[in-house]
Amino acid sequence: MKNITRRTIITFFLAAILLAGTFFFVGRLFMDGSSWVSLSANTHIYSNGILKSGTLLDRDGEVLASSNQGNWTFADNATTRRALLHTVGIPQGTISTGAITKFAGKLAGYNFITGAKHLGTSGNNLYLTVDADVCDTAYQALGNYKGTVGVYNYETGEIICLVSTPTYDPANPPAISVEDPAYEGVYVNRFLSSKFIPGSTFKLVTLYAALEEIPDIRSRTFHCEGSVQIGDQLITCTGAHGDLTLEQALNVSCNCAFGQIAEMIGGKKLAKYAEAAGLTDSYSVNGIATKASSFGFDSKDSGDIAWAGVGQGKDLVNPCAMMVYMGAIANGGKTAVPQIISKVTLPGGLKTSIYLHKKTEPLITEESASIIAEYMKSNVVNNYGESRFPGLDIYGKTGTAQVDSAEVSNSWFVGFIRNENAPYAFVVYAEGGGSGVSTAAKIANTVLQAAVARD
Ligand SMILES: [Zn+2]
Repeated sequence: MKNITRRTIITFFLAAILLAGTFFFVGRLFMDGSSWVSLSANTHIYSNGILKSGTLLDRDGEVLASSNQGNWTFADNATTRRALLHTVGIPQGTISTGAITKFAGKLAGYNFITGAKHLGTSGNNLYLTVDADVCDTAYQALGNYKGTVGVYNYETGEIICLVSTPTYDPANPPAISVEDPAYEGVYVNRFLSSKFIPGSTFKLVTLYAALEEIPDIRSRTFHCEGSVQIGDQLITCTGAHGDLTLEQALNVSCNCAFGQIAEMIGGKKLAKYAEAAGLTDSYSVNGIATKASSFGFDSKDSGDIAWAGVGQGKDLVNPCAMMVYMGAIANGGKTAVPQIISKVTLPGGLKTSIYLHKKTEPLITEESASIIAEYMKSNVVNNYGESRFPGLDIYGKTGTAQVDSAEVSNSWFVGFIRNENAPYAFVVYAEGGGSGVSTAAKIANTVLQAAVARD
């Protein structure tokens, strides 16, 4: 009897291990099956390293790229081909974050239910969340600037616009020399895979830390004489701003006020809030990892901390993470995780998978989000001018980031709009664009007008 009991226990134990193993495998298959299929050694889906089948479309069904036995064709419109180069990618895989490379398994026909049954035949239709027309507008608005424009729906996570420049026409690829400054970083998606000096857009993080850490900060006043010595550094401003409230200090983007605030808060706590705001995270955009931001808050010199608090010094911010933080301010703390895949269908139109909308952890408290939103509106009303953004209920912050080696500053504009049908957060970055308000804000308005008009 004892023996039978022991054997029963062992049998149950083995069965439990088998069951757990099966669950683990099915779970991994569900999560990672598509990327296993995408391995470049899989000759079912690749021919000489080129994906054999699949069609990429924008959210409205406009074809962006399509493969017939490895012969790729791209969008009919040459502007769309350039605007979406980094989002779509190229069959050779040189743009590593492109959909052709990242979603190869899904494009080739893999899905969890039927597995690899359809591989190598007609492939699937993969609809991206982007709107080609809005991306065309963003590409044209960027003009000759290297940079990026990102717009997403902070309630659903859908990325409406994702453009990175410099770019080229994948249907007529030019001969690109790595030394040619016109093509510097041409294979890098500046929105997902880069980080840049944020300039004054970072004051929105310092402001968050100040609201949480200094209880009476809103009733304090600051004084600016055009420059102030903090630690070993002379913090300089664009002018002598005189006496300022916190709100006015943000309106005129006073470095002296924000340098002093950063010194009061201290490097450790500023680092904590940059992390809380999600900037040091790498987001997964349907499996495409974004670059994490990094900061210079570990210096012993309070002057370095002051510069870091105004968004200069060693601060480097990823544009996608900044856009998500804007979504969190708009949405009272939590926001949607950005997504680039809308749906995947079989050639007949049947959906093969479901993409659920996901929310981030709270990136900011509801109270601070509400105050920062109020101040960002006040920036527009009192400083930039609402007439720059006709018809838009817009909340924003400019940035003019200085890079030591460059003569002209880089231009930023970040923020969001309130609109029931178009709840969009955005980031615009133009290298060498000079002041944020004259270049990036203008680009943002052009793109947002197109984005709102599509709904
Ligand atoms: Zn000032």
